[in-house]
Amino acid sequence: MIQLKSAREIEIMARGGQILAGAIRLAETDVRAGMTTLDVDRMIEQFIRSHAGALPSFKGLYGFPNSICASINEEIVHGIPSAKRTIHDGDIISVDIGVQLDGYHTDAATTVAVGDVGAESLRLLDVTRRALDAGIAAAQPENHVGDIGAAVQGLVESAGYNVTRDLVGHGIGTTFHEDPQVPNYGKPKRGVKLTVGLTIAIEPMVMIGSHRTKQLSDQWTVITADKSRAAHFEHTVAITAEGPRVLTRLAA
Ligand code: MG
Repeated sequence: MIQLKSAREIEIMARGGQILAGAIRLAETDVRAGMTTLDVDRMIEQFIRSHAGALPSFKGLYGFPNSICASINEEIVHGIPSAKRTIHDGDIISVDIGVQLDGYHTDAATTVAVGDVGAESLRLLDVTRRALDAGIAAAQPENHVGDIGAAVQGLVESAGYNVTRDLVGHGIGTTFHEDPQVPNYGKPKRGVKLTVGLTIAIEPMVMIGSHRTKQLSDQWTVITADKSRAAHFEHTVAITAEGPRVLTRLAA
């Protein structure tokens, strides 16, 4: 069921979203070679909890053990932080974070280039970031979920890359995953209509190679079937009468 939010509820989500934006910035500035993915998890969890009332949404969500998902190179999403997983120069690492504040969740992700990752990986990050921007720009009232998917898919495929079919963005609010699903593919004017008060996580997951995925035996980590690298960027967005409002972008 779709839960539309009042202006008051969107303001609560915007406050949580600012904490989350700070956590994303911390990942982008402080993740470096030699850290383990558990080090990153602890750094982000500590940052979130340093804000009164803020909690890491992921901890315990469907039984997930940590506060972030950390997914390296061919891992697309849902990597479990581990003291055994060291980040190396040349890796790209997706850091996906959720924040709960006053009963409302927000969700965002970034992919960080660690050291010298090479031209192809830098291009992958750039295309995925621009795909997120294109998806957000399509999140206009009276548009449909399919307009977001079409914008993301069009940008990614014209760059020669692929979007995942197996994982989708989602509504978000008092529950972390709400309706509607927000695929990274689709056709304009198809699917659920975007109405004022809808809050959604838009999250392109882009791979250099085939869109096919595999799940690792840890039951969480999703990787590309062909081991090509993947990137993931995400924002939580409210549909307002004035257009899309990004709730997880750091205020200037
Ligand atoms: Mg999400």
